[in-house]
Amino acid sequence: MTRAVKIGNVIIGGGFPPALQSMTTTKTQDIEATVEQILELEKLGCEIIRVTANNKEAALAISEIKKRINIPLVADIHFDPEMAIIALNAGADKIRINPGNMALDALDRILELAKSKDAAIRIGINSGSLEKEFLDKYGVSSQAMLESMKKYVAYFEERGFEKIILSAKASDVRLTVEVNELLAQHFDYPLHLGVTEAGVYETAIIKSAMGIGSLLLRGIGDTLRVSITGDPRQELPVAKEILQVLGLRSGINVISCPTCGRCEMDLANLATRISKEVKGIDKDLTIAIMGCAVNGPGEAREADIGIAGGRGSGLLFKKGQIIEKVDEKDLYERLMTEIKGELDA
Ligand code: SF4
Repeated sequence: MTRAVKIGNVIIGGGFPPALQSMTTTKTQDIEATVEQILELEKLGCEIIRVTANNKEAALAISEIKKRINIPLVADIHFDPEMAIIALNAGADKIRINPGNMALDALDRILELAKSKDAAIRIGINSGSLEKEFLDKYGVSSQAMLESMKKYVAYFEERGFEKIILSAKASDVRLTVEVNELLAQHFDYPLHLGVTEAGVYETAIIKSAMGIGSLLLRGIGDTLRVSITGDPRQELPVAKEILQVLGLRSGINVISCPTCGRCEMDLANLATRISKEVKGIDKDLTIAIMGCAVNGPGEAREADIGIAGGRGSGLLFKKGQIIEKVDEKDLYERLMTEIKGELDA
């Protein structure tokens, strides 16, 4: 198990459920827009938010933003160590730095200040910005990323700084998985998972589900961000679903068959409407919506609530028992009544 690291009021690692993260797309110095976006992301389930601190105004704005949001804030720093100093003084709960793009001696001041503020630091290694010494020896590879991480973790530890989160990201899914496996073998610091620059929606959800999902399946990973080009509000439902299908977070599981020539009702429409209706509900419940008698009764019986379709009708199952035969036109309402009953129970 990884160590537990406290970021504001959220604990990462130590066996706690993986925390969901996202990153704002506003100019951080536009405080109104940034706060508005963070509050929306909070409603969608974001538990830790990252903002860029790419200039002095942005880093200073953190102080006011922090007063108006309810989740821990991470300042994203590249190149300029002064931005880390300002962000920490402004109250950032954590900073994310890539030491490879910062002068090493500048790190000392950051570590001292972070220690005095009880802030955490995510050491972010990216396959696209590896240092020459590792690239020359290993090329762009998981080994190069591991060696780079070893160097910085040792540097932090030598200075007595251990409130660390590690992340090693690549846009290549296989490389992301390989390097995180190595990190998990070598360190007991919490790991932040993500496939970076994962692309637009459809591509990003597949890459993230495969990369993040395969690591979580093996018990690797303590916090995650699904990275999708565009509106960050797209990220949280995908991240939640990844956790839910792996049994790491509660939620409603809708099982529905793909339908085939045996199906004699509009099952696709029913399954789509029900899935939309229950999306994001934080309760463990399994609903099976099945097209015919081949696999229908079996799945429906195993679920909390199920339908096994017939000709223009469906058999309604609840907790393994057949309740009644329902006309197709009434199936949606009838299913929703049963689901609401379970949610209120
Ligand atoms: S449950 Fe029936 S309708 Fe659905 S895919 Fe299987 S055989 Fe086809």
